[in-house]
Amino acid sequence: MSASPSTAGQFGPPIVIAHRGASGYLPEHTLVAKAYAHALGADFLEQDVVLTRDDVPVVFHDLVLEEVTDVKRLFPGRQRADGHWYVIDLDYADIGRLSVHERVASSTGAPAYPARFHEHLPLRIRSLAEELAFVRGLNAATGRRTGVYTEVKSPAFHRAAGKDLSRLVVATLAEFGYRSRRDGAWLQCFDATELARIRLELRCDLRLVQLIGENAWAEAATDFDLLRGREGLAHVAGYADGIGPWIPQVVRWRSPAATAEVTSLVADAHAAGLAVHPYTFRIDQLPENAPDPATVHHALFGAAGVDGLFTDFTDVTLALLGRRA
Ligand code: CA
Repeated sequence: MSASPSTAGQFGPPIVIAHRGASGYLPEHTLVAKAYAHALGADFLEQDVVLTRDDVPVVFHDLVLEEVTDVKRLFPGRQRADGHWYVIDLDYADIGRLSVHERVASSTGAPAYPARFHEHLPLRIRSLAEELAFVRGLNAATGRRTGVYTEVKSPAFHRAAGKDLSRLVVATLAEFGYRSRRDGAWLQCFDATELARIRLELRCDLRLVQLIGENAWAEAATDFDLLRGREGLAHVAGYADGIGPWIPQVVRWRSPAATAEVTSLVADAHAAGLAVHPYTFRIDQLPENAPDPATVHHALFGAAGVDGLFTDFTDVTLALLGRRA
């Protein structure tokens, strides 16, 4: 695919972000999933970060454990009254004993993605520090400079428990040399107030990405409709370097026979000086009505002109960008 003017523009060539690792092939956020994504040639490896009871930042997507681990079997009786086992209720020593598996519906046990990896093996949740050491080791051994793309998950939830997740994440990244915009890291968050705090109060000089969801998701006390507008984007540009919207906010297909409909979001964000890295491409869960992976990539990178993409399938995205590992 030839590069459109926008992909060769102010933000350089588009980046491929391995969403939770090579999660199309191996259980998300395990070190094997990160190693595989690194080997496939991702530009950045994603870490979602939450805290344990003893304040260890761990690489894990959910606040609760039961959809991707054997917590019910290992720690019966440790759930809250709401029926969930929370990461924040367990110490790291206990979290480290859990085995991670492919995501299943916690009520039925049905796999979220039936065609993926469904073996049960002792794959562990690791701390952010261990994962950053792992990436450093992989880069040293291969000569690559694969970056990290770290998300502060649910900062308000952590603050309500008396914990400052952002401060710990920023400090851990700094320990591993990720301190400035030149250092191969992006830091992301859905919570706009918190992301602004990371820049202004914690004085973090990393590249920051404002994630944008739908207000209906009730993900954070953030008005995503407001942020997506031109005034909102100008506000975001005051503290962040980019936005991470949901793919349907960038391009959508009204029906299976329809052509791609590109919104003004990428152009508006670029006009505000913001890079755009949408989430998440999956070959086994294409955007609604999208005909095939190639069409999705052409719409995103060609017509819309995004600057990067979160993908569960690093190899597919690289191939459709005309790149090899
Ligand atoms: Ca994430």
